[in-house]
This record gives sequence, C-alpha cells and structure tokens, in this order.
Amino acid sequence: MKFEKIEPPKTGEKIAIKNGKAFIPDNPIIPFIEGDGIGPDIWKVTKKVIDAAVERAYNGKKKIAWMQIHAGLSALKKYGNDNILPEETLDAIRKHKIAIKGPLTTPVGGFDYVCLVCAKEQDGIDGKRPEKCIKCGSEYITKRFRSLNVGLRQILDLYACIRPVRWYNGVPSPVKQPEKLNVIVFRENTEDVYAGIEFQEGTPDAKKIISFLINVMEKKVREDSGIGIKPISITGSKRLVRKAIEHAIQQNLPSVTLVHKGNIMKFTEGAFRDWGYELAKEEYGEKIITEQELWDEFDGNMPTGKILVKDRIADQMFQQVLLRPDEYSVIATPNLNGDYLSDACAAQVGGLGLAPGANIGDEIALFEATHGTAPKYTGLDKVNPSSLILSGVMMLKYMGWNESAEMIETALEKTISNKTVTYDLERQMSGATKLKTSEFGDKIIENM
Ligand code: NAP
Repeated sequence: MKFEKIEPPKTGEKIAIKNGKAFIPDNPIIPFIEGDGIGPDIWKVTKKVIDAAVERAYNGKKKIAWMQIHAGLSALKKYGNDNILPEETLDAIRKHKIAIKGPLTTPVGGFDYVCLVCAKEQDGIDGKRPEKCIKCGSEYITKRFRSLNVGLRQILDLYACIRPVRWYNGVPSPVKQPEKLNVIVFRENTEDVYAGIEFQEGTPDAKKIISFLINVMEKKVREDSGIGIKPISITGSKRLVRKAIEHAIQQNLPSVTLVHKGNIMKFTEGAFRDWGYELAKEEYGEKIITEQELWDEFDGNMPTGKILVKDRIADQMFQQVLLRPDEYSVIATPNLNGDYLSDACAAQVGGLGLAPGANIGDEIALFEATHGTAPKYTGLDKVNPSSLILSGVMMLKYMGWNESAEMIETALEKTISNKTVTYDLERQMSGATKLKTSEFGDKIIENM
C-alpha cells in the first residue's frame, strides 16, 4: 500500500500477526503520532530514550524504524480541509499493528471552532470560521470535533484501555506507603456512557425518546432532560475480562477484580460482573478460583497456582485502593469506572505526568501518554515526559523486548530518586534539581 503523505522509513519490516500472536522483526516499523501542545517536546525525548535503551540492550542488533503519521495539528498542517484524523493514519496503524502517540487536543464543547495550537474554543465570526485564533493568533483553527482519542479507540476497535499504576522510588506521593499500590487497570473502551449515544435537551430526538420512555415504557423522566444511553454487552464485557485474565496468567499475578456498580445498575454494571465471572469459569475454570469458592471450599486459604477472581462495587473500590491497595492486582471494569479509577490510582503514585497507558484490541496496540496537551507549556521544553516514556516501556514489553524496557524503568527510577526531575516533581521535593524535558531524558540515558 502506498501512502499519500506519510513517508515510510527507508529500512524496516512490518510486524506480522499469526494465530493472534505478534511476530516482531529486529527492525519493526512503528508509526508514531507526536501529538498536540506538549506532544512534540515529550515525543522527541521519548524517542531518544527508547532508541538509546534498544541500542544498549541489544548492541545494535535491534532497532525501531519509526514512521511519523499524523493526527490533530500535524494532520491539519499536512492535509488541510479540517482533516485531523486522515484515513491513511488509520490505515498505517492497521497495517503496522503497534503504534504510539502523544496527547491530542479535545474540545470540551459548546463552541463551533477550536484552535489546535492553544486549544482555545471559539465561535465563528458573522457565521464564518475565524481567520486567526482569538487567543494565540494561530491560523490552525478547525471545526468542533469529537475526541480523536475516543475516535481512534472506536474506529480501530481498541477495546481494552490498559493502565499500569505503580510507584517509582523517590516520586512524591500524597499517601504514606505508595509502594503498596501496584495495579493494572483494564478499562472497557468502546461501550458504556462513552458509546456516544447522547441527545441534547429540547431536541426532537431527545423529546422522542422521552416520550417513548414515559408513554410506552411507563418510566418517569423529566421532560427537560438530556439523554445518554449506557450500553454494556456480553461481547464487550467478556472480551475485556478475557484480556485481563490472560494478562494475570502471563504475568503470574495473584488476582483479577471486577469493579462495577451493579447494586444500582443491575442490567449493565451488574451484568458486566456476572458475565465476567461466567467467562472466568467457562474459559479459565482450572486456573481461577472465585472469592466465594475460596471461603466455601478453602476456608479463605488461597490454593497455590490459582488466580483469585473477585468483584468490588465501584465506590467501595476507591476506598480499597487507598486503604488496602496491596490486596489488588489486575482490575477489570467498564468504561466510566475505569476512567475515574485509573486517574485516582495514578494520583496516589505521583500523578498523571507519570502514568502510562495503552489501548489494545485483538491485533492492534496503540500506546499513549495519559495526560492532555497542557497547551500553556507548548514548546517550553519544560514538562515531564515520563508518561510517554513509560508508555514506550509498556510497548517494548508488549513486543517482548523486556531487556530494553527494564533498562529504561530502572534508569528513570534512578533519575527521580537522585532528585533530578522536571518542574512538576521538583516543586514537590526538597533539594531537587529542576531539569528541562530534554535534560531529564538525557539524564535517564546517562543512568542506563
Ligand atoms: P492536561 O493537558 O493533562 O493538563 C492539566 C495539567 O496537568 C497541566 O496544566 C499540568 O499541571 C499537568 N500536566 C499535564 N501533563 C503534564 C506533564 N507531562 N508534565 C507535568 N505536568 C503535566 O489537561 P487539560 O488542560 O484539561 O487538557 C488540555 C487538552 O488536552 C484538552 O484539549 C484535553 O481535552 C486534552 N486531553 C487529551 C488527552 C489525550 O490525548 N489522551 C487526555 C486528556 C486531555 P500544572 O498546571 O499544575 O503544571
């Protein structure tokens, strides 16, 4: 397949998928999206750190052939016409199977246009597109759009959002024993209230649905309501829980916890829990034990070699990860719970600047920084690149290049515990040295 505006690297091979397993050549082509705002700053450093680790870990035998693809501001510059998620970007990811991205601007809503340089949302002038941004003066203004991040996940069917959350020695934390939290959140990515089925208050569609609910279904709904729909399916729930259990098996982890709000939303959240248990028993019956069985048959003593499958109600889980974090390992949960919970966990161990993430489907994996574009810091070489670097670490582990992944993790931890950090950590540590994004990356490489 020939691309129109993407320049493929001169060397490099495609990653192949056989029987659902990825085969990684020594010089795989990996597409990357720099991202908007601080994206280019943190991407430059991330690439340098990954390349240095791979070079050192394999003495030059392995090397990633990076291929830039475009979304957000870089796509608008390259493709024009409000084309901020070009079809060939999606094709490149489909074809190469593994990709990595920086953050992308997402309008909150209510305005007709958004500036992709400073993220300022604004209305048209006399019904026309503003020529220049009213805040930063840039010409890169595009029509309001739905989240590109959500779009990428949905179009590519990346149904599992995976966020490992652990503490790195030296990172300032608001809790007393941050080292006790070491979880990996598997958040369902395609359903729930994020499915995009929403109707604005007062519109004919909202009125139609409200009338149906009141008159046909005999439900009570206020006439002046906006409506959102929360679909949760057997398919979506089971494939997510399967990914979580597979991960626990592969990594030898002790438990998988299904987090839901089934006490209130029985046929969506409660069903997620029931289908999760059903799948665990049907497909992994020999390898797992439920909490019920643990108490009924083993008097609470965990038999060796089994994974404990348990469930917790979402509100109670927020308490659990603060008070008894070491009782949790893999967490599987619907979309909205997962969104809240992964940020709350990340806050315990140093905040979003350090939290990595990935969106994974059956064949494709897209690794990404979990924070946003922090537009006020664009181009200042200031922010913490750790989230994207650690997403790179996740990517290397996914590729089976564990030696290089561990090299980065160890060096990053050493850099932070030496108190050589970016502004966000420096302001929370006493006696720390404040480094620029690029200097922090160089220190990590020095510490490898
Ligand atoms: P944000 O970009 O995450 O930034 C909020 C604050 O978090 C920053 O002002 C900064 O705090 C801190 N921060 C974020 N990244 C950091 C880093 N790498 N190092 C150090 N500190 C960091 O959130 P936002 O301002 O709400 O969102 C801006 C835009 O990003 C919006 O368009 C939003 O929709 C989008 N967004 C994209 C993604 C994504 O692409 N995955 C995710 C979330 C948001 P201080 O001000 O305290 O220094």
